[in-house]
Amino acid sequence: MSDRYEQMTYRRCGRSGLKLPAISLGLWNNFGHKDDFGVARSMIHTAFDHGITHFDLANNYGPPPGSAEENFGKILSGDLAAYRDEMVISSKAGYTMWPGPYGDWGSRKYLLASLDQSLKRMKLDYVDIFYSHRPDPETPLEETMSALDSIVRQGKALYVGISSYNPEQTAAAATILRELGTPCLIHQPSYSIFNRRIEKGLLQTLDEQGMGCIAFCPLDQGVLTDKYLQGVPEGSRAAKAHGTLNARNISEEKLAKVAQLNSIAHKRGQSLAQMALAWVLRHGGMTSALIGASKPEQIIDSAASLQNLEFSAAELAAIDEVAPL
Ligand code: NDP
Repeated sequence: MSDRYEQMTYRRCGRSGLKLPAISLGLWNNFGHKDDFGVARSMIHTAFDHGITHFDLANNYGPPPGSAEENFGKILSGDLAAYRDEMVISSKAGYTMWPGPYGDWGSRKYLLASLDQSLKRMKLDYVDIFYSHRPDPETPLEETMSALDSIVRQGKALYVGISSYNPEQTAAAATILRELGTPCLIHQPSYSIFNRRIEKGLLQTLDEQGMGCIAFCPLDQGVLTDKYLQGVPEGSRAAKAHGTLNARNISEEKLAKVAQLNSIAHKRGQSLAQMALAWVLRHGGMTSALIGASKPEQIIDSAASLQNLEFSAAELAAIDEVAPL
């Protein structure tokens, strides 16, 4: 589809030369060997056909760990190899990937070996962005950052990023990377109407450092949609044995808030999912909302959030009342 780029907006990632789609697709859930490969393949095609050029992975996505990268590699090399230069593909290392002391956290040993494994699974020569998936309290930050710098110098990643680092860790990491000559492109934090922590400091740090921001779990794993208002539907993440959302954590209190947000969304002429994504994207410093999906239709619905990104002061105040900062 040649008009794919007309349907999406692209935002500059911090003060870098790279633009990302306002909506990106993550492969944490629903792309592993336990999931339906045909649906996974059709979601990748649907996303790309709608201008979603950015696909986010990590070494451990599955289950089993590694299988989302394997499936993505199969889909990419099978159908989309000709479009590699039109895509931004990311991966990460930082959580447990293999047994022993070298398959976790943030050592140079782990990061370099893990990226080599990820590239093999995805059948790629390089990723566009490689992340330190979480800060390591034991490894010196200099070691983790210098591993990221080496990865770029080796041509195995074009840019680097960090995920779930707090504002102080972020500023320190950005300073080290800048001194090494590999600016930190982007931060990947959790951010949604129900999780506003980054408004209390991180967004400002990213602005000061000239870094972009891509928000993960913008729909709170599906809770910020209307799907759980009448119970846990079959096939939903909370209903799946290998899903990452525990139905017990969707409390009555939370659902009452979801119902209130749902009615604000309808008054705006949007689904709750669409409003939740537009809300995340309301910040000038927000580069992209990183969604997940279990069906192609959800991707189309979520991408349509871009048709109404404006919020009135009254709408924002109503959302603040339901989910205060
Ligand atoms: P979301 O908060 O977007 O939740 C995705 C889920 O919401 C889907 O699986 C689906 O639920 C539901 N959904 C999506 N779109 C719609 C829609 N339009 N209408 C109704 N329901 C919808 O994101 P994820 O939790 O999936 O996380 C997104 C990505 O963020 C991950 O894939 C990963 O790349 C990244 N991430 C990064 C982390 C990190 O530490 N850096 C941690 C976690 C995620 P259902 O399956 O029930 O249909």
